[in-house]
Amino acid sequence: MMNFSSLRQKIITKNASVKEIINDFFSKIELINPKINAYTCTTREIAEAQANKIDKIIQNDEYIPPLAGLPIAIKDNICTKGVVTSCSSKMLKHFIAPYESTASRKLWSSGGIFLGKTNLDEFAMGSSTETSIFGVTSNPWDTNRVPGGSSGGSAASVAAGLCAAAIGSDTGGSIRQPASFCGVVGLKPTYGRVSRWGLIAFASSLDQIGPITNTVSDAAEILYSISGKDSYDSTCLDKPVPNYLSDLNKPIKAIKIGIIKECFEHPGLNPEVKESVLSGVERFRALGAHITEIECPRFNDGIATYYVIAPSEASANLARYDGVKYGYRSAEAPNLLEMTSKSRADGFGIEVQRRILIGTYALSAGYNDAYYKKAQKVRTLIRNDFDKAFEKVDILLTPTCPTTAFLKGDFVNDPLSMYLSDLLTVPANLAGLPAISIPCGFDKNGLPIGLQLIGNVLEENKILNAANIFEIDAQIIKNKPLL
Ligand code: GLN
Repeated sequence: MMNFSSLRQKIITKNASVKEIINDFFSKIELINPKINAYTCTTREIAEAQANKIDKIIQNDEYIPPLAGLPIAIKDNICTKGVVTSCSSKMLKHFIAPYESTASRKLWSSGGIFLGKTNLDEFAMGSSTETSIFGVTSNPWDTNRVPGGSSGGSAASVAAGLCAAAIGSDTGGSIRQPASFCGVVGLKPTYGRVSRWGLIAFASSLDQIGPITNTVSDAAEILYSISGKDSYDSTCLDKPVPNYLSDLNKPIKAIKIGIIKECFEHPGLNPEVKESVLSGVERFRALGAHITEIECPRFNDGIATYYVIAPSEASANLARYDGVKYGYRSAEAPNLLEMTSKSRADGFGIEVQRRILIGTYALSAGYNDAYYKKAQKVRTLIRNDFDKAFEKVDILLTPTCPTTAFLKGDFVNDPLSMYLSDLLTVPANLAGLPAISIPCGFDKNGLPIGLQLIGNVLEENKILNAANIFEIDAQIIKNKPLL
């Protein structure tokens, strides 16, 4: 497995130059990417220039930055200067970002190497990466199946070994759900832990950038690099960034883990997923954690709440694509109004249009109180449930998704069933909490199953510690999928 420590070993011992390592990754991308369609573009020139810099540092025995030489892919809704940032939408297909997002800028200044951009559901709205203008991404474990979404390209590229780590964004589960479907690690940080500057906005009170990696310690390293205050994002927290690596191996004997009762009782939870996650619970118990059952009565209301708040914010954020300032403009329109409406009708796909319509409706005068404000109230109740739970326990545990990866086409014309895929992930976004998905087993078709740990605000170190101890003990993913 190409995790950070094995790659770093090669680089630091001068066993291979970064240039050679990067070339190997690009050869693999050339060979494998046509089978899974994880990348929307590669950035070889930039990568080679970055690799040369690191190789010089190594040759001259200068200070080696923490992510030196590690090849990273970026979800294509995150701005990367001079490179197309498309959101997998016709609207932004030719949009070249004029500036670099804070998160990616921090990665490059920590020595990371930029391999390319990864596929997503259009504007990060979806759970299957099927609504991309570049076509669907395949799950590396079974190419007839979806990789999850919306960061499906990021998760698939890590699972297939086409990068050492990838960056995703998570508004309602888009890092954790694809990580679960692809058998990799996905971390959504606390709201405000990582700057959203340069992340193309979907639902601004929910969006967070985070890592998708092979191992928990790789996720801790990336989080450390990208976290911290940013004057370009006023919601970014001015709180010290702990060294997330230093707590990873602490014994978890004193840790209290709460099992959220309502999740395990939900009729939509696949029995194999339930069984596997419950055996993960037993593993935690055997490792010395205290396990208790916790009630979060509003947890299952998350999905209804999210699907009012997220489309409402999306409808406001996406108003900027008017055919004038950004992106696609319809050529044949007699006046400004028609130009704008035609540009939006042609430039956005069906799911994006559906969200804009739902959001506009929910925010319109007369309905605002009944939908948007009501949803905000339920959001507070969900947060209150979590606050109460964290008085009793350190970490909460649920499955990441109700199912394993589904077949392509299964839900693409059935949005309500597709939305149910986010049942267990959206509550953490609504409450602004950090949450991680780690592999905990496989179903009878050999598809990975994910377990989710949710932490209290800014307690990433606790969930990373528990996840790391679990990962080392369980050794779930011994081999990568064969492609
Ligand atoms: N699947 C969810 C949605 O469609 C979450 C998306 C996300 O986190 N970006 O909205």
